[in-house]
Amino acid sequence: MIKENLTKVQENIQAACIRAGRNRKEVTLIAVSKTNPVSCIEEVLEEGVIEFGENKVQELTEKYRVLPKDLNWHLIGHLQTNKVKYIVDKVKLIHSVDSVRLAEAIDKEAAKRNVICDILIEVNIAKEDSKYGIFAEDVYPFLLEISKFKNIRVKGLMTIAPFVENPEKNREHFRNLRQLNIDIKLKNIDNVSMDVLSMGMTGDYEVAIEEGATMVRVGTGIFGERNYTI
Ligand SMILES: *Cc1c(COP(=O)(O)O)cnc(C)c1O
Repeated sequence: MIKENLTKVQENIQAACIRAGRNRKEVTLIAVSKTNPVSCIEEVLEEGVIEFGENKVQELTEKYRVLPKDLNWHLIGHLQTNKVKYIVDKVKLIHSVDSVRLAEAIDKEAAKRNVICDILIEVNIAKEDSKYGIFAEDVYPFLLEISKFKNIRVKGLMTIAPFVENPEKNREHFRNLRQLNIDIKLKNIDNVSMDVLSMGMTGDYEVAIEEGATMVRVGTGIFGERNYTI
């Protein structure tokens, strides 16, 4: 089933790129493997996808340990400062930075290991009470504050759009995030490049691609419904 699902998602991504006049290479598919066992990840790996997203540090490090080292891990969930040390040298990208304290902790751990850690800023684009992330208008001052940290590099923005039945409802949020990305890029802040827009999940990744997403995070659409009880 996973292979068929993945083929369908790849076709949808391709079609969305065509509709938007974009090159398929501009969009990276991240297979969100949280709650799914290593055997399911291996099935996806066999199809040539090497980018995987996890939202929990412990789950990520356990899977990291047993899977090949040449695949790329994305930490997409809320990250506590005391857990940074477990993942800073294992992940390709941390998508969920939303406080100076967290940015500082990542910088410190990265410096200890003599690595540069790539991060995204999580933006609460629809100002939902239930979501992490900083508000759009606070992103610029936030970046000025963290640009002094030399062992992190801000690659762009991430958002988790509202849960909606009709993905069209999220179009304006994706558009707003893209515009914010462009506005900030023009300011040329130290250590901030703004080439990555991580937005779009199973319910809305096609709209997100039409609005400029460079990374989409698809879980259910590939692995099927998650079972949180196992
Ligand atoms: C779980 C999760 C996803 C994937 O969600 P699906 O709706 O299953 O595609 C994407 N992004 C984040 C941050 C998540 O936690």
